Amino acid sequence: MAVDLRVVGGTLATAQGTLDAGFAIEDGTIVAVGDERHLPDADHTLDVAGKMVLPGVVDPHVHINGFNSIDTYETGTAAAARGGVTTVINFAWQTWTGERERDATGSVWAENGSLLDAIDRQRESADSAYVDYGLHATVTAEDHSVFDEFEAVVEAGVPSFKFFTVYDVGVSNGFLRLAFERLADLDAVAVLHTEDESVCQALTEQRRRAGRGHPTDYPGARPDYAEAMALSDAVSLATETDCKYYGIHTTSRAAVEELAAAREDGTRVRGETCPHFTTLTADAYEKQGTLALQSPPLRAEDDVDAMFESLRSGTLDVVSTDHVASTRAEKAVENWWDCPFGVNSLQTALPVFHEEAVNRRGLPYSFLVRVLSRNPAETFGLPQKGRLAVGADADFVVFDPTETYEISAADNASIADYSIYEGREVTGKVLETYLRGHPIADETGVVGDPRGEFRARDVPTWDPQGGMT
Ligand SMILES: [Zn+2]
Repeated sequence: MAVDLRVVGGTLATAQGTLDAGFAIEDGTIVAVGDERHLPDADHTLDVAGKMVLPGVVDPHVHINGFNSIDTYETGTAAAARGGVTTVINFAWQTWTGERERDATGSVWAENGSLLDAIDRQRESADSAYVDYGLHATVTAEDHSVFDEFEAVVEAGVPSFKFFTVYDVGVSNGFLRLAFERLADLDAVAVLHTEDESVCQALTEQRRRAGRGHPTDYPGARPDYAEAMALSDAVSLATETDCKYYGIHTTSRAAVEELAAAREDGTRVRGETCPHFTTLTADAYEKQGTLALQSPPLRAEDDVDAMFESLRSGTLDVVSTDHVASTRAEKAVENWWDCPFGVNSLQTALPVFHEEAVNRRGLPYSFLVRVLSRNPAETFGLPQKGRLAVGADADFVVFDPTETYEISAADNASIADYSIYEGREVTGKVLETYLRGHPIADETGVVGDPRGEFRARDVPTWDPQGGMT
């Protein structure tokens, strides 16, 4: 009996290396990988001669349909599909009123709220998702009754919980201590944004009073040591309670040193960085002004090097986008403290990071696949994602490693109408993206009806995970 589709003629990139081979797909699942002569017959054949096939990117840190991001599921996941991203993990904000920060006159946060309700609200908004999605339960109020929901949240397919140490949604070390104890019982993952609130507040106020509103005055208000201080506290609490810890958007050498000290074999402590922390430094605030403003800030060249050293050694596991959609108009403010944080990069992360990691730094495709696909899938309980292997979902990217083009926001599927990579020349282009064996995007845009689904995730098993060497 014939299967649905054979993909032949290309070079497959896996977490182990590259190989010239094909694969076969039945009902959206990869059923055979190997020498094309031995693949089963298929109703259709996709010939990708001269191209590479990468597993779809799994991005565990995106902001879609959130208080801080104007992308809907339709526009945000269209950007993902065009960028070779086939799974995203978005956030369900516990106490979010549904208002956007920039439109609201008052707070966008209610005093309390239910995580399960927040998860339902996100799922109800996601009919038009082009890629598969999961959610992190985001705890945004210091209300202990939320602990009673944790078990049901995990059972709802959401085994990861996000906390902030800063902003009006930040929580205290004492609250984290109690929350981590509950999460450890459930073997769930604590996902942390760490910066020291009082240091960042004090330095921000100091700049406000002095009228230092130019974007180049921004990074000093959220320094690397403030990131490292809060990371050190949070990871200590996670270690003490034996709770799985995942540090998001790591930016600095100071912070990765704290992570490395706590990490051991990666069975309890893991971390990520983002494409902008591997390709840009703080001088972007001089060149791009507030368009490049996000938090924590871009750092120095040595910090960029530290991100690559850490990704290679295994101190960091994942590269995520932290995609946030804003418009140029929203970003165009007089003083940096009035600027909405965040940058959009779901559509550009793969080509931009490929350019830096593979073309410029000479790292192998196996590295790219590990940090963009396999590790995030494994870290967040998505065993069917992030790999080209029998039994996995047939999520893949047809990639031309030889085509050179210039990044332009004119191509953005996101509502965001700018790119921090505008004008950057990259060699390596996403030609087509497939989700569960179906094409979802090509070079001209999304293809077909949205077919993305909510993916209930397993509680992940964090086996020892090392780097390249
Ligand atoms: Zn974020």
